[in-house]
Amino acid sequence: MKIGILAVQGDFAAHAAMLAGMGIESVEVRTREDLTGCDGLILPGGESTTQLQFLQEEGLYDAIKQFADSGKAILGTCAGAILLATEVKNPQQESLGLLDMTVLRNGYGRQVHSDVVSGPSTLKKEPMEMVFIRGPIFERVGPDVKVLAEYAGKPALVQKGHILAAAFHPELTEDTTVHRYFLQQAGGNGSARPRA
Ligand code: GLN
Repeated sequence: MKIGILAVQGDFAAHAAMLAGMGIESVEVRTREDLTGCDGLILPGGESTTQLQFLQEEGLYDAIKQFADSGKAILGTCAGAILLATEVKNPQQESLGLLDMTVLRNGYGRQVHSDVVSGPSTLKKEPMEMVFIRGPIFERVGPDVKVLAEYAGKPALVQKGHILAAAFHPELTEDTTVHRYFLQQAGGNGSARPRA
């Protein structure tokens, strides 16, 4: 199992460290060629506008769409989730449109500007810890989109087929639940060992 991580800007290294702790190999993705042979792709948090511009300039925009169309798994966290959405507001911005939802950038405002909170999740019995850093609100999700975790009554982790999006940063906690679930979608057995 080999996972690509978009490594243009943002917290891609934190995702790599989490995967390494789970015994999973990852590669930094900066070109179309880097995607070759990857079983899944992570779009990390950071600045979605900067990341989008890079994707468009490097031809990765279309390559990622093809990657998704071929049934490969993608996990977008925070800015990465914004890139996956079909509609982006505040301000409006182009996106890959791989997951039917409307997102509001920086939607949690000053109260939850950056905070560690917890909310219910279908992936585990205990509440899921969520690190928000200027995260988007998932304002609307399509009828085929599954809600896997919520915060303050709003979807915070969603799935459509092989595409997963989190408004928060699972890579910044000790909890490997979201990454384990993503690896299952990417074709792994999800039995990666937990972090020490
Ligand atoms: N606010 C950023 C954006 O709109 C996302 C923040 C993050 O990824 N932590 O792109």
